[in-house]
Amino acid sequence: MSQHKYLLSEDEMPTQWYNIVPDLPEPPPPALHPGTHEPAGPDDFAPLFPMDLILQEVSQDSYVDIPGEVLDIYRIWRPTPLFRARRLEKLLDTPAKIFYKYEGVSPAGSHKPNTSVPQAYYNAKAGVRKLTTETGAGQWGSSLAFACAQFGLECEVWQVAASYKLKPYRKTMMEIWGATVHPSPSEVTDYGRQLLAENPDHTGSLGIAISEAVAEAAPHEDVRYALGSVLNHVLMHQTIIGEEALLQMQMAGETPDVLVGCTGGGSNFGGLSFPFLREKLKGNLDVAIRCVEPAACPSLTQGEYRYDFGDSAGMTPLMKMHTLGHSFVPDPIHAGGLRYHGMSPLVSHIYELGLLEAESIPQVECFTGALQFARTEGIVPAPEPTHAIAAAIREAMKAKESGEETVILTALCGHGHLDLASYEAFLAGSMEDLDLSEDAIAEAMAGVPVLG
Ligand SMILES: *Cc1c(COP(=O)(O)O)cnc(C)c1O
Repeated sequence: MSQHKYLLSEDEMPTQWYNIVPDLPEPPPPALHPGTHEPAGPDDFAPLFPMDLILQEVSQDSYVDIPGEVLDIYRIWRPTPLFRARRLEKLLDTPAKIFYKYEGVSPAGSHKPNTSVPQAYYNAKAGVRKLTTETGAGQWGSSLAFACAQFGLECEVWQVAASYKLKPYRKTMMEIWGATVHPSPSEVTDYGRQLLAENPDHTGSLGIAISEAVAEAAPHEDVRYALGSVLNHVLMHQTIIGEEALLQMQMAGETPDVLVGCTGGGSNFGGLSFPFLREKLKGNLDVAIRCVEPAACPSLTQGEYRYDFGDSAGMTPLMKMHTLGHSFVPDPIHAGGLRYHGMSPLVSHIYELGLLEAESIPQVECFTGALQFARTEGIVPAPEPTHAIAAAIREAMKAKESGEETVILTALCGHGHLDLASYEAFLAGSMEDLDLSEDAIAEAMAGVPVLG
């Protein structure tokens, strides 16, 4: 019998998050105060985050215990399954072995609740009444809404206007969990009103939505802000993905030769890869670890490595990261969760240290891979992890040429049930891809099988 999935029992779930910072050969550059440009201290973050999260952001401890209340909620969907993509392997006729860790089994449908739950927990513990946030594709807003509902917190979300229009069901999902949702730019903040006065049809960006959520949180003692990616504490919360995957690869009796993950802000990638990088740094594993990003938003491969703001209005501390510039407004068609101007400072730093590789892949190749995946493995991927799937397929095809049994590991970090408009565009042949012609799309489509 050939095994398809590797499952951990609830009592095998890891009980600590992993912090990679103390294991790095050089410490990451500090965040800077937006006004003085001096290294930012805990007090500079205090208007935005509760102290427990600020201390995690700068922690030098290798491991942090996951609080019992958080473990209890994690157990709703964790441990998550690790799958071997045997049917995709067969379709590709490759000797490679493809494994994927599936995070779409969470209530919100992605990896994001791994951090929204602890963030809501620490805020509730600090006596906060309401959390504000931004959301692009809607995954983070719904994850935070779910987590706030668990701890009795109010939740107010600014959803990028393009996505607010395109994805009404994400808004409904947030409202089901009790959140209030505004399109961004909104009439609710000074910055939003200013942008709407200049352009009433503004399609918005994550950077703008962050500015609006921060503007609502900072002045109020009992309101705080939550970020769904980019920051060190967020990546640390996500390491439960990689810690579980290490155990599950052991169950499968395999060690990965290549690990690929999609990077928007870097959190699902950091979550899967950092525990494997720890083992690599210790000399226990020889694995190539690679970030995959959209050709239309290549912050890591083409952005500059320098200090930039996390938001458009320049209200957040400055972080050294690969960035396309904080005023970057992505094409409205590309409203997905990978369209952020910056990359996690920690992922950027580790990339600069030469411990990570990076590649960008155009969207049509990604959706072509997603159809190959969906028609074999069954799960419809969110648009973001289609990049990871396309990269895994590239590796599998290389293995086919060389005849090597390459072991590939990736994360399928979310399902695409609320992203069907992108699939509709792809299937209609109207998906825009600046790097590929219509002919190339037709050619790519021709390779997609319909399995009986
Ligand atoms: C938010 C999101 C991303 C992008 O964020 P990362 O921090 O890079 O993980 C990717 N995939 C899904 C499914 C998401 O919801």
